Amino acid sequence: LSQVYPELRREVVACARRLDRLGYVPATSGNISVRLDAEKILVTPTGVPKSVLRPEQLVLADMRGRLVAGGMRVTSEIGLHLAVYRLRPDVRAVVHAHPPVATGFACAGVEPPGDIASEVVVSLDTIPLTSFFLPGSLDSETDLPPDLREAIRTRDASLLSNHGAAAWGKDLAEAAGNMEILEHYANIALTVHLLGRKQPLPESTRSVLKALGAKYRSRKP
Ligand SMILES: [Zn+2]
Repeated sequence: LSQVYPELRREVVACARRLDRLGYVPATSGNISVRLDAEKILVTPTGVPKSVLRPEQLVLADMRGRLVAGGMRVTSEIGLHLAVYRLRPDVRAVVHAHPPVATGFACAGVEPPGDIASEVVVSLDTIPLTSFFLPGSLDSETDLPPDLREAIRTRDASLLSNHGAAAWGKDLAEAAGNMEILEHYANIALTVHLLGRKQPLPESTRSVLKALGAKYRSRKP
């Protein structure tokens, strides 16, 4: 069974290596999953650094997070991934990581302003900061903080208070891309803050940009 979905396994490993090179997943942190069908997901195992992850180490899990196939344990943060799949039927991939600047915002309790960079309004609209939950504690969707549920329904990425970030998308490339945009945007928001002034986009411009984003993306405005 470690041979099923060989192409997808290679894609997940390539994504893991990229997140590692970017410094988003130090040590054994972070996890990646892809929805295979209505019953199964392919997901990274717990305890393996993303820099040395191999395709055959990925495990298959069911939609309750139980191991279906593979020689290693499913990531302990599987609950977050499952919640996204339950709340967003259009989503096929979820990435969770600890990118340092975005995680700094999440630890400071500061949500990056949603009205400064036009590219980000098109791609993510805003990046909500959602309430703390114990990593690995999500047995069911009702354990999720309500603001995180809302972020999953209406956005494609979220900062997780005192923890890190999560992003999702219609495929792995989109989910990983959303994570990169999120960290890039956190860097921009930090720079704006350091410069000591801000030039906000007018609300009318934000609406046009949001409509543009909705045209290209699965998320509804
Ligand atoms: Zn984490």
